[in-house]
Amino acid sequence: KNFAAAVANYSSLPQPQTTPDILYTGVFINNEWHKSKSGKIFETINPTTAEVIAEIQCADKEDIDIAVQAARNAFKLGSPWRRMDASERGRLLYRLADLMERDQVYLASLETLDNGKPYSMSYNVDLPTAIKNLRYFAGWADKNHGKTIPMDGDFFTYTRHEPVGVCGQIIPWNFPILMMAWKLGPALATGNTIVLKPAEQTSLTALYIAQLVKEAGFPEGVVNVVPGFGTAGAALANHCDVDKVAFTGSTDVGKLIQLASGNTNLKRVTLELGGKSPNIILSDTDMDYAVETAHFGLFFNMGQCCCAGSRTFVEDKIYDEFVERSAERAKKRTVGNPFDLNTEQGPQVNEEQMEKILGMIKTGKKQGAKLVAGGSRPEGLPGYFVQPTVFADVQDDMTIAREEIFGPVQQLIRFKKLDEVIERANNSEYGLAAAVFTKDLDKANYIVGGLRAGTVWVNTYNVFAAQAPFGGYKMSGHGRENGEYALSNYTEVKSVIVKVAQKNS
Ligand code: NAD
Repeated sequence: KNFAAAVANYSSLPQPQTTPDILYTGVFINNEWHKSKSGKIFETINPTTAEVIAEIQCADKEDIDIAVQAARNAFKLGSPWRRMDASERGRLLYRLADLMERDQVYLASLETLDNGKPYSMSYNVDLPTAIKNLRYFAGWADKNHGKTIPMDGDFFTYTRHEPVGVCGQIIPWNFPILMMAWKLGPALATGNTIVLKPAEQTSLTALYIAQLVKEAGFPEGVVNVVPGFGTAGAALANHCDVDKVAFTGSTDVGKLIQLASGNTNLKRVTLELGGKSPNIILSDTDMDYAVETAHFGLFFNMGQCCCAGSRTFVEDKIYDEFVERSAERAKKRTVGNPFDLNTEQGPQVNEEQMEKILGMIKTGKKQGAKLVAGGSRPEGLPGYFVQPTVFADVQDDMTIAREEIFGPVQQLIRFKKLDEVIERANNSEYGLAAAVFTKDLDKANYIVGGLRAGTVWVNTYNVFAAQAPFGGYKMSGHGRENGEYALSNYTEVKSVIVKVAQKNS
């Protein structure tokens, strides 16, 4: 399903809860709620109003130690989780998905309150995609099987697919519920236990889902959710009793996670990091469709997408018209209260991100890019809003064409030749996603083959599904989430070699 269409379909949405109850703010270990060991708390802020929503228990190393121990106990041979039939693990995941669906209005409202993303998007995109993801992996629970292998000699050889063990999962704030689902689904389907740390900016929905995990019937210690800052994440990454860490977030922290693994127990690491994705528009494309979809490819989720199409390469012949139309479209984008069903763009997640984006806009202007839309904060809005911003005449070596902005800032870059644009598109330390818009199938296939990116969209953008793997080349990370490929991140392969006696009697 096209996300653009889902966001645009407001008519059938149930009304949001604009002041959802805040029910859970503690540390969730062994299916119970705890205070942080240090007694510290932190505030979570509503980015739309800059007001405090709630105080959350601030877990750190000591709490992580307890959570890891709980996950380790839950993983012990003979524990209810290890003895559970694989199909039953799947049934629990289906149940968790059903509970999220039951509470979809509440969860979507809470996500909008804490993160600032439009409710139309939380309800229509984030929740359904997360729920489908859990159901997809529920189906895999009893299908992740090994092989029998025709080995040389008199042996019966087979592989067992076994869980890796205790998994640390560290998630970001841009898609809090969805990233949680992407992490829980494959890990639980394959029988692992989990200590998950949500992003400090957006802990509320993860904590509510923790309670749903208990309600679904998962045994204690199988899923532990520990709110806190980067130090809590670092404690997980450095923990010698953690067998694997899955991380989504910045490339800088991704490097630290990989180093932590190397410095401790060589725990398995999968990383889903930043991007600077090229979106290549050829001159034969349908102009209206390409302008709208490139706009969506960048501005979706306030530009806070690791795969945002933040280098839009437009063929010379149509460049000027494309610039004009993209600026017009950006100026029409509705920015404001995310609970309003007509709002396309809410605030950025926090003040720090807003300031970072405004700084990038300043750098873009200073380095000679031409500002054709937006460029500052919109007037009259108290929260962390940034105007939809479009830069033309962007050169490849400008900071805004090289570094992740993670905000509503579109870069329009001119190109002339196919081979030239492929080379320039690949000239980035990242390789998460890319797209091409053309009616010419041969050109599309040629470009697809040449691009170094984990996902390439053709005549579309930001289409994700539980079935299709997602992840990066180069410094966008390694490992693939979603699809069958995701199972391997959470599976150890054991070869079993049995001597077969060559006798008849
Ligand atoms: P971040 O990488 O610092 O945070 C992501 C998660 O990692 C959070 O849960 C955080 O608490 C945790 N973390 C922070 N320091 C850690 C450490 N040393 N060890 C272990 N865990 C740690 O991201 P951010 O500061 O929130 O955002 C900064 C930039 O990261 C953004 O501007 C954007 O460019 C990028 N980002 C990318 C994604 C993505 O989906 N790839 C998501 C969010 C942010």
